[in-house]
Amino acid sequence: MSVPSDSQRMEKIVSLCKRRGFIFQSSEIYGGLNGLWDYGPLGVELKRNLKNYWWRVMVHERDDVVGMDGSILMNRAVWKASGHEDTFTDPMVDCRSCKARLRADQIVEKKGAKQCPVCGGKDLTEPRSFNLMFKTYVGATEDESSVTYLRPETAQAIFAQFKNVLDVSRKKLPFGIAQIGKAFRNEINPRNFTFRSREFEQMELEYFCRAEEGIKLLEYWKEERLKFYGNIGIARDKLHVLTVPDEERAFYSKGTYDIEYDFPFGRQELEGVAYRTDYDLSQHQKASGKSLEYFDEETKQKFLPHVVEPSAGVDRTVLALICEAYSEDQAPDEKGKMETRVVLRFHPRLAPIKCGVFPLLKNNEQLVAKAKQIADLLRPHMFVFYDEGGAIGRRYRRQDEIGTPFGITVDFETLGEKDSALCDTVTVRERDSMKQERVAIKDLANLLVAQIS
Ligand code: ATP
Repeated sequence: MSVPSDSQRMEKIVSLCKRRGFIFQSSEIYGGLNGLWDYGPLGVELKRNLKNYWWRVMVHERDDVVGMDGSILMNRAVWKASGHEDTFTDPMVDCRSCKARLRADQIVEKKGAKQCPVCGGKDLTEPRSFNLMFKTYVGATEDESSVTYLRPETAQAIFAQFKNVLDVSRKKLPFGIAQIGKAFRNEINPRNFTFRSREFEQMELEYFCRAEEGIKLLEYWKEERLKFYGNIGIARDKLHVLTVPDEERAFYSKGTYDIEYDFPFGRQELEGVAYRTDYDLSQHQKASGKSLEYFDEETKQKFLPHVVEPSAGVDRTVLALICEAYSEDQAPDEKGKMETRVVLRFHPRLAPIKCGVFPLLKNNEQLVAKAKQIADLLRPHMFVFYDEGGAIGRRYRRQDEIGTPFGITVDFETLGEKDSALCDTVTVRERDSMKQERVAIKDLANLLVAQIS
C-alpha cells in the first residue's frame, strides 16, 4: 500500500470531516465566508469532549483553580488598557499584481527577492499594521462613543474580574482562574482548514503567583500541558516545545514556550505557555484606578500578583486530534478479501461516539428489542449509536471511520439459542485491534465507562 503524501493526507482529512459531519464550511449554501467553520453532529461531540476534559483536569481535579465565563463584548477601556487597541496588529503587505493581502511573515523570498506566495509577483507594498480586532458598536448609535471589539482572547475578562473572583473564592496564591470561550481575530490570511480561523475558541488559564515563583511555574505548566496532550492521545514525538526567543516575545513576558504539533501542513503552534509578569493586572489597575492588589495575610503585604498563562486553542487541538487519529489499514471485507479501512484512532475519552450497538439482523424482532434495550442501558453513561442497517461488517466500518472505539453486537447467542451459558452476553469489538470478546450485558457499563473516562 502506498503511503499518502502529507497534502493528500490533509485532503482526505478535510473530505472525511465534511462527509461524516465533523466540520463544514460556515454559510456554505451562500458560498461560505473565509476563515469561518461550523461543527457538525460529530465535530461538536469531539469538541465538547476536549473542552470537558480540559475543564476536568484544569479545574475540577485541582484545589487551586476556579472557573469563570466572561462576556465576549467588554468595555472598550479593557482593550485600551491591555494594549490590544494600539498593538494587536499583524504586519500586512499587498501584492500590487494579484491584489492578494498577505501577512508580511508569510512572504516567500527567492534569490534574495520578496515574492507573493499567490502569484509569484515581486511588486509588493511596504508592510503596514493591520489591527486584528473586529470592531462593533454597542447600543443604537454608531459613533466613537459606542465602539468596542469582539474579544481577540478570553484572558482579559479574567484580569478584569480578578478582584471579584479573588474575593468570592478566597483562594491564596498561587491560584488560577480558568475560562473556555470564543475569541475573534480578523486574520489577514486564514488558512490550513480550521487551523487559522477568524472565530475560534480558547481554553485559557491565568495562574497567579508571587514574582519569585514565576519562572518555576512556567516550567511546571509547560510540563502539565505536555502531559495533557499525551492524555488525549497525541503522540509525544509529534509535539515540540519552542522556546520563544527574546526578540519575538512580548516585551512584558519573562519567558514563553510554544507547544507545537506536526500537522500534515507543517509544524505549528497548538498552545502558548507564557510568564506574563504582572503586566496585565498593573495595566488594568492603572487604567481603572481600582486596586487589584492581593493582600498576604501572613506577611501583611499588598502586591500585584504575577501570572503564568497556558493558552490553548480548542479548534487547533480538535484538528490535531483528527490529524493524529486518521489512519488507513488493511482489513478483510465480508468475503475475507483485504480492503483499505479508514480508522480514526481517537483516544476513547475523546471519541464522539463511545459505542455502536448492533442487532445482528434487522428483521429479527428479538435481536432488535435486545439491542435497543442495551442501547438504553448504556445511554445514561455515554453517547451511544444504534445501527441496524446493512451487513454487520459495513456497520463496523462506518463506526471505524468516525472513531467509535467499541462495537456491541447482539446475536443469537445473546438470546441463549445456542448455548445457554452465553445467554445475555454480547460481543464487544475493539476498533483498533478489531478483536472481539464476549461480555455479560450486566458488566458492559462498568467495562466501557472505565475505558472512556
Ligand atoms: P499564531 O502565532 O498562530 O497566530 P498566536 O501566538 O497569535 O498564534 P495566541 O495569541 O498565543 O496565538 O493564542 C493562544 C492560542 O489560541 C494559540 O496557541 C492557538 O491555539 C489559538 N489561536 C490563536 N489564533 C487562532 C486562530 N486564528 N485560529 C485558531 N486558533 C487560534
